[in-house]
Amino acid sequence: MEGLQSKKEPVLGFEVDLFTFEEALQCVHNALKENRSMHIVTINPEMITNGNKNDEFGRVLNEADLTIPDGVGIKLALKVKGINQEVVPGVDFSKRLIGICALEGYTIGLLGAKEEIVQKAAANLRNEFENLNITYIRNGYFDEQQEDIIRGELTEIAPRVLFVALGSPKQELFISKLKQKMPRTIFIGVGGSFDVWSGCVKRAPEIYQKMGLEWLYRTVKEPSRFKRIFPALPLFLIQVIIETIQQKIKQA
Ligand code: UDP
Repeated sequence: MEGLQSKKEPVLGFEVDLFTFEEALQCVHNALKENRSMHIVTINPEMITNGNKNDEFGRVLNEADLTIPDGVGIKLALKVKGINQEVVPGVDFSKRLIGICALEGYTIGLLGAKEEIVQKAAANLRNEFENLNITYIRNGYFDEQQEDIIRGELTEIAPRVLFVALGSPKQELFISKLKQKMPRTIFIGVGGSFDVWSGCVKRAPEIYQKMGLEWLYRTVKEPSRFKRIFPALPLFLIQVIIETIQQKIKQA
């Protein structure tokens, strides 16, 4: 990462970049200015667990150019390893990136979520960022045939930054198949961010965000998320503790 000291730490086999929010943004800003491509992954425990079960997804995660620690689960995992890491929420990070694109004239594309959601998100972003140039908008519900058409459209239009909101691992696998064909695009998988930008899903109040309890708020609001967190998150942390103890024993 030009001009930035790259610090990485493996968590159960996947390297996480230990950048602060501002450093990670600087890293992407540099890639924009230098006309480089990039795949940004906003990683969480669920993705690491899936990456260890699914070889293809694991490979895609390992090939990412920037892996930012999204969420308190990764923060806790790094804490177990003795590292104090700031959480870089993908939804906030992406919004700041859009601000840079609007200010400096880089085009963006939005792919994912339901049709009314992605349209509303685009309209809200255009209202918020005066000169924002969104050159591609497409909902995230398509079959294989439509997927080929979408790839063709994207390759032709080539937005400078493409935000892909298909949920994980779908969005990372989609990006991985496309990135060779779009050598000047920065890709980021943004999960449910369009739902937030559309105004249809509310973020947790700031106090929850500051305390690292946004997941708790979201789980209370959407109880179906419970099974995504339990028992996966505690199991993930137990595995990280075991990995850390094994590393310490090896070093001793
Ligand atoms: N989604 C989509 N196509 C699909 C499946 C999901 O566009 O085939 C969208 C969905 O509408 C939502 C986002 O992907 O906007 C996933 O949101 P979720 O909150 O599950 O993502 P997370 O951030 O938790 O990974």
